[in-house]
Parts: sequence; structure tokens; C-alpha cells
Amino acid sequence: MKITQEILRSYARLIARSGANVQQGQVVQLSIAVDQAPFAVMLAEECYKAGAKKVNVEWQSDGISRLHFQYADQETLGTVLPWEEAKAKQMVEDLPCRIFIASEDPDALAGISPDKLSYVGRSRARVLKPYRNAIDGKHQWTIAAYPSEKWAKKCFPEDDAETAVQKLWDAVLKTVRIDGEHDPVAAWQAHSDFISAKAAWLNKQQFRYLRYRSENGTDFRVELIPDARWEGAGAVNKRNGASYIPNMPTEEIFTSPLAGSCEGTLVSTKPLSWNSQLIEDFSITFADGKAVSCKAEKGQELLEKMIAMDENACMLGEVALVPKESPVNQCGFLFYETLFDENACCHVALGAGFKEVLPNGDNLSTEEAKARGINDSIIHVDFMVGSDDLAIDGVRADGTTVPVFRSGTWA
Ligand code: ZN
Repeated sequence: MKITQEILRSYARLIARSGANVQQGQVVQLSIAVDQAPFAVMLAEECYKAGAKKVNVEWQSDGISRLHFQYADQETLGTVLPWEEAKAKQMVEDLPCRIFIASEDPDALAGISPDKLSYVGRSRARVLKPYRNAIDGKHQWTIAAYPSEKWAKKCFPEDDAETAVQKLWDAVLKTVRIDGEHDPVAAWQAHSDFISAKAAWLNKQQFRYLRYRSENGTDFRVELIPDARWEGAGAVNKRNGASYIPNMPTEEIFTSPLAGSCEGTLVSTKPLSWNSQLIEDFSITFADGKAVSCKAEKGQELLEKMIAMDENACMLGEVALVPKESPVNQCGFLFYETLFDENACCHVALGAGFKEVLPNGDNLSTEEAKARGINDSIIHVDFMVGSDDLAIDGVRADGTTVPVFRSGTWA
């Protein structure tokens, strides 16, 4: 599809209306690459038209980020300055509607020491995470993508830049259901309703365990938290009742499993891009809920580092169901961007869980949520386990077993 101003405008409107669902009088915080300035202006205008009180823009730059890591030392980069902390505090007061536009070059930080990256990530998270926790469930947010040339070239290295960008746009528009004909806002409503119906079905089943099997070697069992809910697509800002879509695209239905209670081996079915580096053809074996061994054809050291990022990075924070018919999967290439890649097929995430899946979860402290079985960690890294033959059974407390997935899709 030709990327006309009309198409871009309908995308910007979709992000502001269906994604963030900006409400009258809300402050909006837009994070976007400086390379995407014209789209930022369009998007800010759509936010204002939707009633935003003020749209604040945080400009990002891959080039500057890389320079920081190349030249500045890790102590400097890991330090959260008082003004940055004040900004985070202000956010807790304003509870802005946050919009993130992903367009990063997946190789932006390639070659930077993983130790430096993880040190900086850890140090900053130590200061900023409490603020992030404080706004959880109390604001609307959405992540959507805007194809940049470097990102597109990473996905389609054989093509010239223009062709690559066009191909990536075609994929992005397909996954966000913009076809230039139908109303994307209505298409999202229908999609969101389908996902909600599946989530409602899962919530009724009262499964105690999920059991995964695939010919690739996946043989795994994970325990669920009895009153944790399955959620998907839409979320609701419980402070003002505004519904929003955190990820565009989104295909998954997810919950947080009982941390520390899973057994067996999960074999990855797609490469995992972490800290700008690839981990490929890997499997992770769990015992008593913890990753006890892992094996990767490529990126073994990186995978080990990831699992050891902190005490609980070795435990699961998410299980998610995505049928193989997902448009992201149908695109058939690796996006090198979790926003897309995690919507390709069934996955789990190592690291932090979501306390909001618990009844009254938003009001629980991280410690309280942890006591209820929600994992807490500075990482949350998804990896894909869905395959064309993946079978998942739900097992209730009384032992009754219900097929949930067969041949990679809803049974
Ligand atoms: Zn997920």
C-alpha cells in the first residue's frame, strides 16, 4: 500500500483514539524518534483533537543512545539525575497518557558490552522502578511502530532501503488492520471483542495447570494462580474507566503464572533479540519454577546473562496464547521488535509478572503481589514457543483435562 498522508493520518488517529484513547483534559507524553518528527506532529495533533490538555514530546535518537554507551562510563549512565527523578515523580502526579512510537534500529547498540548495558539498566531501574510501579494501572498507554530505514533494512537486508521500508510498512499496516478501505477503529473493535471472548472462556475454565507439548522437544507444565485473570487486547485505566490498547498490534491473551511452579523444557521457535543481540535455537529447562539450564546454538553467554540478571529473572512472569494464524506470524519474517515478534505465536516471559491480573491487583504493593505468586524482576523478556504442532491442555484441580490449543491454534 502506498504510504500517503491519508494513511499516516488514519494511523495517527488510530493510535490516539483506539490505542491511547486520549481523554478530555489529559496530559499526553509522547516518546518518539527525532527522525519521525513529521509523524510526531501529526500524532500530537490527533491527541489534541481528542482532547489532550498538553502533549509533551520526549525525543529519542538511536545515534545519541549509541554514543552514550560508546563514550560515557557506566557509572554516569547508570545514575538517575535529580531532574530525571523529578520528572518521574511529576508523572506519578500527572498520570499522563503515554504513547511510545517504536522505530529503533535493532542494531543500534550492537557491539556494546552486555555487561555495561545490564549494569546501566539495573542501576536506573533501581531508582525508576518504584515510580513505574506507582503509575501501573492508573494511566493509559500504548506502543505502536513506525518503520525507520535502518529497522527495515535489518528485516530485509537484500532489498534497497526504499523497498525495505515499503515492505515493513505493508507488514505494520496489515498487523494494525489498516487496509485503506475499512474503518480501522471498527476493525480493532471486532478484533478486541474476539480476544476478550477467548479470555472470558479461559477465565471460566479454572485451569490449575497448562501442559505444553510439541515435537520439537517442548514438554512443559506451568501452574496458574487460581484467581489470576487471563487478559488480552484491551486494558482499562481503573482510575477513569478509559479503555485502551497497550500494544498495537496485539494478538495475545496472557496471564501471570504462579512464580516458582513450573517444570520441564520449553524449546524456542523463533530467535530472540535481546540488547540488540540475537539468541537463536535455544531451549530452557525449568525445575521448581526456576530455569536451571539453558542451551543456545547462538548467544549462549547472553542467554545465561539474561537469566541471571537478578534473583528472579530465572522465573516466569507471563504465559501468553497466540494462534498461528496471527497476521504477525503470517508476515513470516522476524521483526527484531518484541512488539511484533511476541504477537507471532505462543510465548512465555522470563522476569516480572503483571500484578494487575490479580483481583484488586493494582492496589497491591510489589511485595504483596509477590506473596500472591506474581514474579518481580527488572527484566521481562518474551520468547516464542508456539509451533505448528503445539498442543496445550488445560488441567483443572480435579484432574479434568481440556484441549486449549491443537496444531498451534485454538482447539
Ligand atoms: Zn506477551
